[in-house]
Amino acid sequence: MTSYPHLLSPLDLGHSTLRNRVIMGSMHTGLEDRVKHLPELAAYFAERAKGGVALSVTGGFAPHWRGWLLPFGSTMTSRRLADRHRLVTDAVHEHDGKIALQILHAGRYGYSPFKKGVSSIKSPITPFKVSPMSTREVDRTASDFAKSAVLARRAGYDGVEIMGSEGYLINQFLTARTNTRTDRWGGTAEKRMRFPIEVVRRTRELVGDDFIVQYRMSLLDLVDNAQSWEETVALAKALEAEGVDIINTGIGWHEARIPTIVTSVPRAAFAWVTAKLKAEIEVPLVASNRINTPDVAEEIIAAGQADLVSMARPLLADPHFVVKAAEGRADEINTCIACNQACLDHTFSNKRASCLVNPRACHETELVLLPTRQAMRVAVVGAGPAGLAAATELADRGHDVELFEAQDSIGGQFRLAMQIPGKEEFAETLRYYTVRLEKTGVKLHLNRRATVEELAEFDEVVLATGVEPRVPDLPGIDHPKVVTYQQVIDENAPVGERVAVMGAGGIGFDVSEFLLHDPYESLEHWNTRWGVTDPELERGGLTTKVLAPPRRQVTLLQRKSSSLGKGLGKTTGWVHRTTLKDSGVQMVPGVIYERIDDDGLHITVPGDGDTRESRVLEVDTVVLCTGQESVRDLVEPLEQAGVTVHVIGGADVAAELDAKRAITQATELAARL
Ligand code: NAP
Ligand code: SF4
Repeated sequence: MTSYPHLLSPLDLGHSTLRNRVIMGSMHTGLEDRVKHLPELAAYFAERAKGGVALSVTGGFAPHWRGWLLPFGSTMTSRRLADRHRLVTDAVHEHDGKIALQILHAGRYGYSPFKKGVSSIKSPITPFKVSPMSTREVDRTASDFAKSAVLARRAGYDGVEIMGSEGYLINQFLTARTNTRTDRWGGTAEKRMRFPIEVVRRTRELVGDDFIVQYRMSLLDLVDNAQSWEETVALAKALEAEGVDIINTGIGWHEARIPTIVTSVPRAAFAWVTAKLKAEIEVPLVASNRINTPDVAEEIIAAGQADLVSMARPLLADPHFVVKAAEGRADEINTCIACNQACLDHTFSNKRASCLVNPRACHETELVLLPTRQAMRVAVVGAGPAGLAAATELADRGHDVELFEAQDSIGGQFRLAMQIPGKEEFAETLRYYTVRLEKTGVKLHLNRRATVEELAEFDEVVLATGVEPRVPDLPGIDHPKVVTYQQVIDENAPVGERVAVMGAGGIGFDVSEFLLHDPYESLEHWNTRWGVTDPELERGGLTTKVLAPPRRQVTLLQRKSSSLGKGLGKTTGWVHRTTLKDSGVQMVPGVIYERIDDDGLHITVPGDGDTRESRVLEVDTVVLCTGQESVRDLVEPLEQAGVTVHVIGGADVAAELDAKRAITQATELAARL
């Protein structure tokens, strides 16, 4: 008896059957753009098929070079190219999985000066102008989609996904926001819909009836002047009539200023929109966005909100998600914490995607952890992300591992992170490691500061002793109103009404949020706060935000003259900046800190020309978020005792430490030892 009967039940599409209800949603990994990376792409998808995914969808492939995501980006435009993709499709089929090629024309979202789009309205998120297609070019582009689908079939794909959401070309045709055409492809809602209908019609005609045609449809645009719900339903019905097999849910254009996938978005936050469409059509529907556990996925399908779920990042985090759920080992799933740090932040910076909690993602052929031939006794000191990853991977390879932690629980900096409102998901990683420590047989010693003498008994020692908050050298730094971020989050240090936060890195932003707000109480609360509503009431599902008054008055400061929060994650930083701005946080760059006394924090800020102005921030509390220093006390004595020491994570380099670097470094070390 499984706990996930709905999730694990097959789905008959008529001409083919999906072995369960899990679709791996499209994610551009950076392995799609060059033919030389196809072996890595094949290994990546094979791993997910082996892990039980029913249908994987590739990253986007343009049907014409004018639709590139970026110059010389991925396309599916020739037989030669299609034949090379056999490597990918065969690898998936070997594990009884299915795979669909996503066909994506970027339109005005293309990061390319040669792009063609619906009209000449420039995209707010790319620097290049776009030239509108002629009437004939639109017609030819619809056929290009169909031709790409034929090539996908030749390549051995089981189907295609036509990308009609997230604000890419097809979506651009659908709204008056971006479609100002007056020919047969624009002017009225009916004419705006003509393009996607033609794409699907021509695709179905060319690929035949026994090939999966999935359409990713924007159900909630989350931008102004978007589709109405009536138009969305009309399009879904038209696509159903043209013979799509599956409709996938797309939420929000890339230019939308409502978060749709970051960790502070509640789980399954948009399943209600899929459910709303489900009442209107028969074709199998897929729910997506922030579905990251088998329980959430099961609930959605059991409740009849959707027929399938699409997950992309959760399958980067754990390729064996489905098999673990099916075998009653859901507690062993390495849950995606929706941080975006190694996946989408990489993709949008033109780097190969990976995963913060699973650095093997997209590196399956390079980061290989084989059973060891020579088991050693290894001590790992520090049970933060680096120590946990090192200890469990080493034990998994067959080493005899003991893990020493001075605190009474595991987690290190993650224990702090998970207490920030909207970062509760980080607790999942500690749940995962708790189970994994047990399964891999690591001997965990809590409340134990390892001594040089006991460490000297081991063959190898891994030091992951982490960091401690940096306390800057400043007059008055020992004033009672000064606290570190650690004291605020972990030790409940009292914080007054008026607060200055020194340091505007990730932690300065996090601490400000911690001081200003409680966690979201419910999905309704989150929707109200971000201004998301029923698309039947407002086009695109967009309404006015209703903001709760902040609990405190916070001033966030940095010495750099750049705008605050510039160094935060590419795809998440704007959410943090918006949250603090919405709470009235004063952001002050270019600060020189002078002193702290009973009056408050004395600073100077840039004035006119080269001058500086003195200011006193009359605050009750000053919170130090001024970076970290490595904790390395054991390095020297161990080296003097002749012990082989490997220093990883924050203990190695504290500057711009993050868990991505810590876990990757730990895993690479574990693969080597
Ligand atoms: P950080 O990003 O290095 O920020 C610390 C800031 O303190 C620096 O930007 C620096 O800015 C300031 N500072 C450094 N030394 C100082 C000194 N002696 N006196 C006064 N100010 C000083 O480090 P963090 O905020 O502690 O975060 C650590 C890491 O955790 C980040 O790199 C990030 O990867 C990760 N993290 C990320 C997030 C997120 O993205 N949401 C959240 C939490 C943590 P100025 O010199 O310009 O003032
Ligand atoms: Fe999920 Fe973060 Fe991994 Fe991306 S990097 S897959 S968001 S855990």
